[in-house]
Amino acid sequence: MDFSLSDEQRATQETFRRFAEREVKPQARDLDENPRFPAELFQKLGALGFFGMRYPAPEGNGADLLSYLLAVEEIAAASLSLAAAATMQSLMGTYFVHKFTTGETRQRLFAPALRGDKIGTICMTEPDAGSDLFGMRTRAEQRGGTWFISGQKIWITSAPVADLFTVFARTGDKQLSLYLVEKGAPGLVVGRPIEKMGVRSSLTSEVAFDDAPATCLLGEFGQGTGYLREILAEIRLMTAALALGVARSALQDAVAYARQRKQFGQAIARFQAVQIHLADMAVELEAARHLVEWAAWRSEQGLPNDDQAAVAKLRASEMAHLVCDRAARVLGSYGFATDFPVQRYLRDARFTLIGGGTSEILKINIAKGLCK
Ligand SMILES: Cc1cc2nc3c(=O)[nH]c(=O)nc-3n(C[C@H](O)[C@H](O)[C@H](O)COP(=O)(O)OP(=O)(O)OC[C@H]3O[C@@H](n4cnc5c(N)ncnc54)[C@H](O)[C@@H]3O)c2cc1C
Repeated sequence: MDFSLSDEQRATQETFRRFAEREVKPQARDLDENPRFPAELFQKLGALGFFGMRYPAPEGNGADLLSYLLAVEEIAAASLSLAAAATMQSLMGTYFVHKFTTGETRQRLFAPALRGDKIGTICMTEPDAGSDLFGMRTRAEQRGGTWFISGQKIWITSAPVADLFTVFARTGDKQLSLYLVEKGAPGLVVGRPIEKMGVRSSLTSEVAFDDAPATCLLGEFGQGTGYLREILAEIRLMTAALALGVARSALQDAVAYARQRKQFGQAIARFQAVQIHLADMAVELEAARHLVEWAAWRSEQGLPNDDQAAVAKLRASEMAHLVCDRAARVLGSYGFATDFPVQRYLRDARFTLIGGGTSEILKINIAKGLCK
C-alpha cells in the first residue's frame, strides 16, 4: 500500500491550507464567540470547488476521496465550526439531491448548492430517536400525488439558514423513505438555534413538519436505509478528517507554547513530563491519520471499507479529544483562557465524538463486523 500523496492531492491540500490560513483562521475566534452562519466563507468554499469535490464532472469536480479528506482536514484545522457546516453541505446535505433529482428541481437546487448559495440539510435525528433511527416517528402520507410529511427533527445542522431539507420518514416497520422538502413549504417550521459548547457557528436547530408538502420522494419508496448505508463510510471518514484537523492544530499550538514557555529556568519543552504529552499526542495523531488514509485507500480501490471507516472514525475522534485535552494541560492556565484557541479546540473536538455515530455505537458495529 502506498499512501504517499499524488501531485494533485498535494496541490489540493496546499490550496485549502492557504485558504484556511488566510481566510478562515483570522475569523475562527469570532465564529466561536459570536455564532452565525458563515455565509461569506461558504461562498468562497464554493468558488474553490469544495462543495463539488465528491460529485462527478461537469457539475462537480470528481475529486478522489483522499483529496476531499485532505481539504476537510485543512478547513477543520482553522475552524471546526466552518468545517462542520461545510462538510454537511458537501456530503449529506446535497448527496440525495444529486443522486435523485432531475430537470427543473435539480437546476434550481443542485448547482446553487455547489456554489454555497443554497444550503442543504439532512434530517434524521428526532427528540426520541438518535442512535436508534428506527425509533423515528416522522411519517409521510401520499394524497393526490403529493407526499405530506409530519414529525419533528432535532439537531439539524444549518437548518436555520436552509433552503432544502432531505427528510427521513418511517414508512414501514424497519423501513425508511427519503423526501425533499423546501424552504417555504406550508407546515415547515424551523426552531431557533440550539446553544452549544462547540462548533458554535455550525448552527443546529429543531425542525417541525406539520403536514408539510414534499417537493418529491427521493429515490424509491422504502429504500432510505440502503441509501444511507451507501454514504455511511464516507460520513465517518469525513468526521475523522475533522478530528485530524482540530487535533493537528492543538498539537502545533502545544509544541509552540512548550518551546517558548519557561519555568524553573528553562523551556517547559525540556521537561520529560511535557515531552511525553507531546509524544503521545503525535503518536495518536499519526496512527489515526494512517487509519483514515487506509480506509480512504480501500474505498478508492473499490474494496469494502465500512468496518475500516468505523475504526478510523472511532480512533480519530477519541484521539482528537485526547490530543486537545493534553494540549490544554501543556498550556497550564493559558489552556483555560479564551485568548488562546486550545480551549476552543477542546470544546469543538467533542462534536466529532457524536457526529457520524457515537463511539459506543461504532464499537458495537465493529464487534458485529468481527463476529458475523
Ligand atoms: C453539533 C451536532 C450536529 C448534528 N447534526 C445533525 C444533522 O445535521 N442531522 C441529523 O439528523 N442529526 C444531527 N445530529 C444528531 C446526531 O447525529 C445524534 O446526536 C447522534 O446520532 C446521537 O444521538 P443522540 O444524541 O440522540 O444520543 P442517543 O442515541 O440517545 O445516545 C445517548 C448515549 O447512549 C449511547 N447509546 C445509544 N444506544 C446505544 C446502544 N445500543 N448501545 C450502547 N450505547 C448506546 C450513546 O452512545 C450515547 O452515549 C447532530 C448532533 C450534534 C451534536
